[in-house]
Amino acid sequence: MERIYLDHAATTPLDNEILQKMLPYLTDCFGNADSPHAHGRKAMGAVDNARDTLAELLGAKPSEVYFTSGGTESDNWALVGGAYAMKEQGRDHVIVSAIEHHAVLAAAEKLQKEGFAVSYLPVNGQGRVETKALEELISARTGIVAVMTVNNETGAVQPIRALAEIAHKAGALFFTDAVQAAPHMPLRVQELGVDMLSVSSHKFYGPKGCGALYIKSGVKVKPLIVGGEQERGLRGGTTNVAATVGMAAAYRKTVATVSQTSQKMQTLRKAFLDGLAGLDGLHIYGDEGVSAVLSMRIEGVTGVDLVYKLDLNGVSISAGAACASASVKPSHVLMAMGLTEIEARECVRVSFGKDNTEADVKKAAALIKEIAETLRKN
Ligand SMILES: *Cc1c(COP(=O)(O)O)cnc(C)c1O
Repeated sequence: MERIYLDHAATTPLDNEILQKMLPYLTDCFGNADSPHAHGRKAMGAVDNARDTLAELLGAKPSEVYFTSGGTESDNWALVGGAYAMKEQGRDHVIVSAIEHHAVLAAAEKLQKEGFAVSYLPVNGQGRVETKALEELISARTGIVAVMTVNNETGAVQPIRALAEIAHKAGALFFTDAVQAAPHMPLRVQELGVDMLSVSSHKFYGPKGCGALYIKSGVKVKPLIVGGEQERGLRGGTTNVAATVGMAAAYRKTVATVSQTSQKMQTLRKAFLDGLAGLDGLHIYGDEGVSAVLSMRIEGVTGVDLVYKLDLNGVSISAGAACASASVKPSHVLMAMGLTEIEARECVRVSFGKDNTEADVKKAAALIKEIAETLRKN
């Protein structure tokens, strides 16, 4: 029996077309991109092309795109590196939304331990940050504000442009974690009005362990990884040539097919929800967000039990975000939206991908109904 994978917000499979584009850089073309000989120049040519592609697709300059080891590193770097640089201007206050990925939240906690003041932006019942909440928290002491473009548990889309404007008026930097937005919507840094933006390759069918950070020219950010002159001296370490090639090709394909994908995701979501019709005590969260990601709760059914039983039946979904699902902590995102701890423990996340079919999601929905009813009887 073929398994059904409905956890694309955790990671996506590497697209075979992308793998083929990467292979030469894992074999014959193995040079270190910084070496001043033919092997190195060939590798650097590929890295330059990847940077140009990403820049073009994001509406940025190639010199504003920095390669990293993934979303987590990009998020850490943006928040911590940005906060350190702003502290030199006497600004030691950091604002992050309460629904950020742990890559941002843990970075904020690290800053707090180092003496920064940290404030958390609340969200409404739909999981959206409201602009007035930022207006209330921001001050002349604020150095950086971070709000993600799309939440990875609910799919809720945040009003980035308006939030960035408020931050800029107060003289603060604005960073957005666009890791979960990149697979689902075009991103143009000018239109968003952000100073920094992060993406991660494995969320859009590229290789794992590769990401990028856009840093607007003129914005000062301290490096976190030192020891090499790579990435204009701001991020040391030998460049992962194959991964950058793969990420750029995967992002190009994502952007080229984005409206098609979004239509397919709407169809899958509808088929899935239709399949769940009639299930008692069902709640869907983040209904206005991207169609591919949804958090749902079935009253009286613990999320981890449902995930476990579905797994035994060949379906992969997650209880909250992937990083949180191995632990017993209820989702901080759903609790920020006003759910109680018990309610948050009843939540699971389902996220669709381009290889899913309507038959897949209908089958998963039928299984969920069946399992939920049995679990509830026990
Ligand atoms: C997956 C994810 C990350 C982390 O990216 P990695 O490349 O896995 O380190 C950060 N933010 C969001 C919103 C994510 O979904």
